[in-house]
Amino acid sequence: MKEILNYINGELKPAKSSSRLDVFDPSKGTVYAQAPDSGRQDVQEAIDAANKAFDIWSNYSIDRRSRMLHRIADLIEENQEELALAESKDNGKPVWLANKVDIPRASQNIRFFANAITQYSTEAYDMVELKAINYTLRQPLGVVAAISPWNLPLYLFTWKIAPALAAGNTVVAKPSEITPMTAFLFSELCIKAGLPNGVLNIVHGYGDKVGEAMTTNVLTKAISFTGSTKVGGHIAKVAAERFKKVSLEMGGKNPNIIFADCDYDEMLKVTLRSSFTNQGQICLCGSRILIEKTIYKKFRDDFVEKAKQLKVGIPIDPNSKISAVVSKGHMEKILSYIEKAKEEGGVVLCGGQRVKMEGEYSEGWYISPTIIEGLDQNCKVNQEEIFGPVVTIMPFENEAEAITIANSTEYGLSATVWTENQSKSQRVSRALNAGIVWINTWLLRDLRTPFGGVKNSGMGREGGYHALNFFTELKNVCIKYN
Ligand code: NAD
Repeated sequence: MKEILNYINGELKPAKSSSRLDVFDPSKGTVYAQAPDSGRQDVQEAIDAANKAFDIWSNYSIDRRSRMLHRIADLIEENQEELALAESKDNGKPVWLANKVDIPRASQNIRFFANAITQYSTEAYDMVELKAINYTLRQPLGVVAAISPWNLPLYLFTWKIAPALAAGNTVVAKPSEITPMTAFLFSELCIKAGLPNGVLNIVHGYGDKVGEAMTTNVLTKAISFTGSTKVGGHIAKVAAERFKKVSLEMGGKNPNIIFADCDYDEMLKVTLRSSFTNQGQICLCGSRILIEKTIYKKFRDDFVEKAKQLKVGIPIDPNSKISAVVSKGHMEKILSYIEKAKEEGGVVLCGGQRVKMEGEYSEGWYISPTIIEGLDQNCKVNQEEIFGPVVTIMPFENEAEAITIANSTEYGLSATVWTENQSKSQRVSRALNAGIVWINTWLLRDLRTPFGGVKNSGMGREGGYHALNFFTELKNVCIKYN
């Protein structure tokens, strides 16, 4: 049994209470590791360490901070294979996917902000007639909290930690209790890189204990959260009462709008990816597919045929396109939505059940890619986030109807539009209530761009200078001269 430890003040240690929680391998449905079930005291120790380290880290030169982050990125790259295997075991995703996406992106996140901070600057405001000049400083906040979910564990964890550290803050971070392994391996790499004690602290455990202690503590100046809308809403209240800065990246119910004049083959290929990559457990996956009526039947038949060809298999098999979903509870939730779809009048065109593997994988949590048609846009299955390998397809008559359906949920994270008509793509992307719109592509990311959602999908933007702005406070200094 592997033992995961907290990383506090530069040391790896268990929870003060010695209590632990089980960590599962979703591909087998068995416990393979234990993580600290930490409490308020562990969090306090981490926050005190971060508070003490702030003086040292915030006074490092930018170049020195940047070099330290590059060293950590180098170590991620050097340990790519091990990290990818660990991510796959912890989360259930195919190993090839962790190798291709999760781990490379984790090192890119850190390298990106190690570079970005060297180009970050502030403004001056000259008052010529009054003989005065103002300049603004962007100063780090102090101790900040980073809380992340289980779907892209190291990828999203580093996406928060990197800008926070680059800007000169010290960090107390919590990965999901469901997928803590790569955060633990990451703490070992930070020690190896020589990150000063207390600059980054990682406390493992449940959200209502560790997360709550982090967000309510008077010393944490900002909270960067990615996870469900329900928990995000709770954190928004906690933060508001204490006047903390907060950045919330939450759930989605993203539409894909497919017009008849699209590049059909490319659209079909990418729509398959945007529906089922990572078992559909990416906040940006398109889960409501809207198709112009004239090509609906063709699309339905082709899409179902392609989805049936996707191999559901164990994570170490390089041919597996879909592996296990993250937990038993999550599998049951996804299956219950498929049942609900049937009750709501939907027709399951393919998939719809749990898939049993052989041998030691027979208790793993696998679900076949599922396509449902015949549902009304306002039913629960089309309104609530499922976050699994399940999509619905719906025909639309015209542009106006597509926009109305696309905007008809409480979410607004991302949307994808497929058309070769430039003017149409511009009109539609402007009309969509979403923080991110892709035209004729999906998940093409430039880390400088603003990332985040509107409505119940998010508050604030991550990415590029937006993240550095979040993790700093502006101060204006006005100087009078003669
Ligand atoms: P979750 O909200 O259950 O948990 C997210 C994190 O919050 C975990 O680390 C959890 O322990 C912690 N937490 C729980 N209760 C807390 C509390 N009271 N105080 C502080 N922290 C607490 O979400 P999840 O199930 O881990 O992740 C899936 C969700 O994440 C989906 O809704 C998905 O759409 C969303 N997500 C959004 C984005 C985005 O960028 N918008 C990216 C990935 C995932």
